[in-house]
Amino acid sequence: MKSPVSSVLRQRVCARTIFWAAILFLLCGLVPGVVISGATESVVSHYDLHFHLLLKENRLEAEALMKVRNDSQEPVSEIPFLLYRLFDVIEVTDDRGVVLPFNQTVVKFSDEKSLQVSLVSVRLSPPLSPGKAVAVRLKYAGSLWGYPEVMAYVRDRIDENYSLLRPDSLAYPILARASFQSWMAAHRSQFTYRVETEVPAGYVVVCGGRPVETKRTADTATFVFESYRPTWRIDVAAAKFKVIEDAGRKIRVFAIPGDEGEGQRILAAAQKSFRFYSELFGEAGDFPGYSIIEVPEGWGSQASDFYILQTAAAFRDKGRTSELYHEIAHSWNVRVKSGIQRCRYFDEAFASYFQGLAIKEFEGEEAFQKYMTRLRDRFLQSYERDEKNGSTPIADYWREERGENSYTKGAWSLFVLHQVVGDSVFRSLVSGFLREFRTREADFEGFQGFAEKAAEKNLDRFFKEWIFGAESSRLLREKLDAGKIAERYR
Ligand SMILES: [Zn+2]
Repeated sequence: MKSPVSSVLRQRVCARTIFWAAILFLLCGLVPGVVISGATESVVSHYDLHFHLLLKENRLEAEALMKVRNDSQEPVSEIPFLLYRLFDVIEVTDDRGVVLPFNQTVVKFSDEKSLQVSLVSVRLSPPLSPGKAVAVRLKYAGSLWGYPEVMAYVRDRIDENYSLLRPDSLAYPILARASFQSWMAAHRSQFTYRVETEVPAGYVVVCGGRPVETKRTADTATFVFESYRPTWRIDVAAAKFKVIEDAGRKIRVFAIPGDEGEGQRILAAAQKSFRFYSELFGEAGDFPGYSIIEVPEGWGSQASDFYILQTAAAFRDKGRTSELYHEIAHSWNVRVKSGIQRCRYFDEAFASYFQGLAIKEFEGEEAFQKYMTRLRDRFLQSYERDEKNGSTPIADYWREERGENSYTKGAWSLFVLHQVVGDSVFRSLVSGFLREFRTREADFEGFQGFAEKAAEKNLDRFFKEWIFGAESSRLLREKLDAGKIAERYR
């Protein structure tokens, strides 16, 4: 029997030859659907990272100051960090410079023997009390060559052509034990960060966060970024990027030299979709900006808050511009009650359907129909693979991490609702809902109440079959078109 861990790993291995379904999965930072255990008692709540990239030598010198919080009920005297296998830890101290004893060993993951990491155990004396925090500063240096033998897309490295540092390569310390389960669990906790990266003059560093400042000397440039809000990953890329940006510097494209033309096209598409959503649903909420970062082919597309790492082929492929419409659409998401958030409905179903509306606007009805058919087929495949993907109501997706279906069936629920209430009601319903729940937290009951008020009709049967029940899966299986399905609810 395949363990969930190895299936997670395979998903990652596949990332090199990502198919359309998997890419969205990765793009949206959805931690793969396994039941997570093996969490550690402590979490990092803030990172202050300093990277010095020695491009010619293919190595880095780094310092990571971390705020570690004990979330357990017991005192903690040992904190485990995972770090890339070729990094040597030079020194561990607290924030006042007091040396903390540590032990570094290169080990294999207990549940994935092909993955080799540095396990750094830091001893705390006295132990860290429950609810308390401590600062741990880890100095380390070494070469980075990714994990291509385990996860084909993890080609992270430091060199003159392109440098990339991601959590996938353990380029910065991750508080976890030496198992895939524990590593995945660590991605569940959120933190803020500040990252300073020094590179030789002429290079540009980009990170998903807010650009704070750039300090320059004759030979070097140091780029400083801070997280926009608590997040789960830090990505840093350095190259001789060509930066293409709009006048307000809100949307910025970082193109590998030679791809500037594509960068221009991508910027235009991003701006166009931004305007489209604004006209349809009103101004975006708190939109800090968005970065589109090209990575070399085969290095894996990924995304987190307000940025996307996009492989060169996807970057150059006009057929994949619509993935960007999806990412931009996330700026029109509501706040959601925690727990329910893991249904991924109020972010992914909405972004996926909005992507469809943008496709209809820019590429026409036929392209839109094709897109919706692809989503339905993807849902049916997932249903085929595991019957529970069909029988679990959308409102219960959070219980077993079935949120992947929100990209497909979730988007279809909005498609059908659109047909039920008609175009103008749908627009006012969605824009009103987005306004109302920009500051308050939404849930499914709230959404139903809002929809019924806007449509001035009882939508009980629709919500029973699509959200709180799973009759809708049968309707999708019968491949009825959305108009036909909508007749049930009029
Ligand atoms: Zn998404």
